[in-house]
Amino acid sequence: MDLATLIGILGAIGLLIMAMVLSGDIMMFADTQSVLIVFCGSIFVVLAKYNLGQFFGVGKIIVKAFMFKLETPEELIEKAVDMADAARKGGFLALEEAEISNTFMQKGVDMLVDGHDADVVRATLQKDINLTTERHEVGSDMMMALADVAPAMGMIGTLIGLVAMLSNMDDPKSIVVDMRNYYESEVGHFNDAICPDADTFKEILPLVKKILNAKNKLLLYCTGGIRCEKASAYLKSHNFEDVYQLEGGIISYFHQVKEKNLECKFKGKNFVFDARMGENITDDIISKCHQCEAPSNRHTNCNNQACHILFIQCEECDISFNNCCSKECSEIAAKPLDEQKILRKEPATAAPLRKYQNGTKPRLQDLINKRSKEQLNI
Ligand SMILES: [Zn+2]
Ligand SMILES: [Zn+2]
Repeated sequence: MDLATLIGILGAIGLLIMAMVLSGDIMMFADTQSVLIVFCGSIFVVLAKYNLGQFFGVGKIIVKAFMFKLETPEELIEKAVDMADAARKGGFLALEEAEISNTFMQKGVDMLVDGHDADVVRATLQKDINLTTERHEVGSDMMMALADVAPAMGMIGTLIGLVAMLSNMDDPKSIVVDMRNYYESEVGHFNDAICPDADTFKEILPLVKKILNAKNKLLLYCTGGIRCEKASAYLKSHNFEDVYQLEGGIISYFHQVKEKNLECKFKGKNFVFDARMGENITDDIISKCHQCEAPSNRHTNCNNQACHILFIQCEECDISFNNCCSKECSEIAAKPLDEQKILRKEPATAAPLRKYQNGTKPRLQDLINKRSKEQLNI
C-alpha cells in the first residue's frame, strides 16, 4: 500500500473527529443505535449476498491491501535481466541460488530450474494469476457492495432517529417537570407537566427525587433556565441519568414560539416576580379564583399589609373583598393606618389567617379550611 492511501484515510477520519470536537461535546455523536444500523447493518446486508467462506476470506484480502508491498516494474525488470544474463552464461541451474523476494517470480524460476518447459511455466503462472484475480475480485466486489449499502443504511438510520425523536416528545417515559413553585405553575404550565406541590425551590428538589424514578427521562423547565441548571446537577448527582432542561426557560421558549410561529405547548400565564405578576403566554386560564372558584389567573397580595398573603383573586372578589384575602382582612385594611399599626403588635389579630399557615407561601384555601375546622370545633 502506498503511504498516500494511509495519509488519505487517517486524514479524512481525523478531520471528521476534529469537526465533531469543535462543535462542542463529541459524546453527542456517540450513538449506539447509529453504529448498529450503519456498521453492523451494512455488514449483514453484504453478508446476505455472499457465502460464509467468501465473507470471511475478505479479511485476508483487506489485510493484504494494506500490508502488501508492491515492487516497481523497474525493479522486477532489472532482476529479470540479471537472471537472464546469469542463465545465458551458466544455464538455468545458475538461477538456483538467486535471491528473489517476489514469490510469484520465485515460483517461475523454480519451475525453470526443475527443467519445465517455458510454455508450461507460462501457463502455470497465468493460471495462478487468473485464480488470484478471481479471488480478489470477490473481495473488491464485497467492498464495493459495502460502499453501496452503507450510505443507504445511514439514511435508514437518520429516518429511524427522526421518528424516534418525534415520538420522544410524546413519549410516556419522558416526563416534563415544572421546577417552579406551586403558585407559579398554578397559572400556567406545559401540557402534561408534573407540577410539584412545593412552596420553595429548596423543597422541590427532594420532592422530585422522591416522586420520580431515576430511570425516567426528565425534561426540566423553569422561568429563565437558572433553576434547571441547579436542578439537573442535583438530580444527576442522585443517579438520574436522562435529565434534559429547557435552555433559557419559558421566557426563551415563548420568544422562539412567537418568532418561528410554532405550536405553543405551554398553556396559560408565565408568573414573574414583578408588579405584573406574570405575562400571558396563551389566553387559556387554567387556574381559579381562590375565593369564588371562578376562572382567574390574577395573582395579588392581600391588601391588609400585615397579612399580605399571595393568592389568586378574580375581579369580582377583588371588589367585594377590597383586594383582601378575607372579610377580616378587608375590615382591617379599611381601618386608618394608625389603628392598623397598633393592631400589628398582635400578629394573630392583625393578620387573622396567617396563624394557620405552615409554609412560607400558604395556600389561601388551606388557611380558610383550617379556620373553618377550628370554628366548627368551637
Ligand atoms: Zn372570585
Ligand atoms: Zn389577608
